Amino acid sequence: MATIGLIGGMSWESTAVYYRLFNEGVRERSGGLRSADILLHSVDFASVAEMQAKGDWAAAGAALAASARRLEQAGASCLVLCTNTMHKVADTVIAATRLPFLHLADVTARAVKASPSRRPLLLATRFTMEQGFYRDRLSAFGVEALVPRPKERDEVHRIIYEELCRGLIEPASRERYRAIVARAVREEGADGVILGCTEIGLLIGQADLPVPAFDTTALHVAAALDFVDEWEAAAA
Ligand code: GLU
Repeated sequence: MATIGLIGGMSWESTAVYYRLFNEGVRERSGGLRSADILLHSVDFASVAEMQAKGDWAAAGAALAASARRLEQAGASCLVLCTNTMHKVADTVIAATRLPFLHLADVTARAVKASPSRRPLLLATRFTMEQGFYRDRLSAFGVEALVPRPKERDEVHRIIYEELCRGLIEPASRERYRAIVARAVREEGADGVILGCTEIGLLIGQADLPVPAFDTTALHVAAALDFVDEWEAAAA
């Protein structure tokens, strides 16, 4: 079986979801006692968040590149970077090894393209919502994502770092996210929601939303499991 290499810990709250979804996915696809073959390098998120806050993306890229090399040396067959935000340094991580890298924006863009949604609202950290590295990558696939208004973006971002990454799931924050989506649907014609931060699925899901949800964590896992299936088929 291919070994999935996870660069995780950003935050571990969502990496734990990845771990569960990978194992559930393998059980669904293959049955019996089968489970996912995974190597995980889980970083200390405090140091990464500090580099983000300082804008020291070079240091953050170097740290994640080192993580990628450790996974390659340990025998990983591919790399899954378990955070949307840190795809800002994806090029540095990709250049560090020869392993296939499953880019989360590409995976998300393909899922949106395959759906009827043409004006999805992107909910994510401020970095992901406001900087080019993610939305430009979606645009390259023809997906033009909307973002919330500046004050709404502040709230979405704050809730991710002050609550979700610390394991706090607050009903009031769920209502806030729902209100932000409802306004974008009503006033801007949003016809989908990209849960563009790997922790957001802990707070809201399809049942809370009036338009289709694209949960990047679940999409990433499904894409990596497809990679594993193809790898196994090629090896057979
Ligand atoms: N997990 C988050 C994401 O998907 C945010 C935490 C981080 O900054 O990496 O963007």
